[in-house]
Amino acid sequence: MNYYAAPIEKLIDEFSKLPGIGRKTAQRLAFHVINSSEAEARELATTIVKAKKNIKYCEICFNLTDKDRCFICSNKTRNASILCVVESPRDVIAMEKTREFKGVYHILHGAISPLEGIGPEDIKIRELLYRMNENSFKEVILATNPNIEGEATAMYISKILKPMGVKTTRIARGIPVGGDLEYIDEATLARALEGRREM
Ligand SMILES: [Zn+2]
Repeated sequence: MNYYAAPIEKLIDEFSKLPGIGRKTAQRLAFHVINSSEAEARELATTIVKAKKNIKYCEICFNLTDKDRCFICSNKTRNASILCVVESPRDVIAMEKTREFKGVYHILHGAISPLEGIGPEDIKIRELLYRMNENSFKEVILATNPNIEGEATAMYISKILKPMGVKTTRIARGIPVGGDLEYIDEATLARALEGRREM
């Protein structure tokens, strides 16, 4: 049975759908919203809708941005000859926090996973090849996650880059296997980047 009035129940349901939010936390958030002023509730709602509406992919690297080009691609001081390939925009933030990487990124938006039916054509690999043809990169760093899918993706990309003759490196394996780039501490990730090896 439902203990709450339908609109509260609905709100709890919606919060429960968010990643990492259990039923208890969803209830706490719902009551926070109910107890806040109408102006605050409206601000939260419009912020969500606006973010959804205004955020798009960077036309160069597929990072999330509210402009045509993201803050990295539009930064002239970045070294545009070194390309770091990552799985998600969250990985860009993780790499940026190390302060070690001054190049540019390419965001795949996923990794190859035969088990989940995700093939090379489902992530931004075609777009990566297009960039490779349009630019002359000195080095491509494959910084996909150190798990099965990430390794398979790095392997796949290194194979198709090989005939192009570009130096292709993989971040070192000092990082915990099975992990996610975004949860690795900055010092460890910086070391992994420093210790990258040619594929
Ligand atoms: Zn960009």
